Amino acid sequence: MLIVMKPQATEEDVRRVCRKIESMGYRPHPMPGAQRTAIGITGNPGPLEPAEFDTLPGVAEAIPVSKPYKLVSREVKNEDSVIRVKVGDSKDSFVTFGGRELAVIAGPCAIESREQAFAAAEKVRKAGALLFRGGAFKPRTSPYSFQGMGEEGLKILAEVRRQFGLAIVTETIDPENCDLVEQYADVLQVGARNMQNFSLLKRVGRSPKPVLLKRGMSATLEEFLMAAEYILSEGNYSVILCERGVRTFADHTRNTLDLSVIPAVRHLSHLPIIVDPSHGTGRRDKVTPLARAAVAAGADGLIVEVHADPDRALSDGYQSLFPDQFAELMAEIAAIAGVLGRTTAQSTTGVRGSGLGVRG
Ligand code: PEP
Ligand code: MN
Repeated sequence: MLIVMKPQATEEDVRRVCRKIESMGYRPHPMPGAQRTAIGITGNPGPLEPAEFDTLPGVAEAIPVSKPYKLVSREVKNEDSVIRVKVGDSKDSFVTFGGRELAVIAGPCAIESREQAFAAAEKVRKAGALLFRGGAFKPRTSPYSFQGMGEEGLKILAEVRRQFGLAIVTETIDPENCDLVEQYADVLQVGARNMQNFSLLKRVGRSPKPVLLKRGMSATLEEFLMAAEYILSEGNYSVILCERGVRTFADHTRNTLDLSVIPAVRHLSHLPIIVDPSHGTGRRDKVTPLARAAVAAGADGLIVEVHADPDRALSDGYQSLFPDQFAELMAEIAAIAGVLGRTTAQSTTGVRGSGLGVRG
């Protein structure tokens, strides 16, 4: 159910409706908009009747929401959400996901050493990326493969942030691990293998940090959006969706990158969506063409694996771009973005606010 308030409704009117929702055992999600406030309702104590709210002061109407996902849907919030991530030292400096600008996250699959991380960070920063990726905890198919450096890797990421003014995107693999990772990350990554780890989704839903949610390798669009709904329903509205390829019979790539999900998501949800052409293809020679296509298809950004010496990478070297290839890609996507009336992200200053209501 969505409660739409009248344009002249007072803050007390909004609070009264929220109290009523809570007293019935549900959770209210107020969303102040340019014209009026709407209040999403989540929880499952039982069926809700619009008549319970229609007569409260300041209420314009109570509308049932037909989709199984509520808070992520355009039925509840029509304007695109713009998610801001702080970059650099200035407290007013942000990069945004979901606005006019494209955000690019780049860096190695995993943090392997301080030297390796710094070498990649220097190159991607120079090429214009403002966000740095690198796993300190790696969910690997084999228990005998490199599992990441753990907290030592997170400390290196903190140094990268300081030294290069890059925002840090790194993966958290379970709820306990999140306590540690959120102390270091600017954006918490939930990996494809964890897209339906519901206790992790609830845990990141209670984090103050934005979440990059990767699509599970066999997830339908509805399952993907429901996973995001878990996060929003806990109160964290800063979710960036990420298409990273799904499993099909095709064996010329590691996964099949489903770019058609971009317009499909945009139709159903206000959340931003970015694309990972690295895991999406698994082959270096296919990363650039699919990255270009993703931007052309309307992605809000990219996450790309870049390694200064991919042949020696401890994971995913065969799909990591050389720094020069990444710099070329940045120039190309800037040109494609221009055709679409968009730009590649520069640090945005002076933009404030957070929460479902003020991002749109
Ligand atoms: C990663 O980003 O390094 C990663 C493991 O991605 P995914 O969860 O999409 O496989
Ligand atoms: Mn990887």
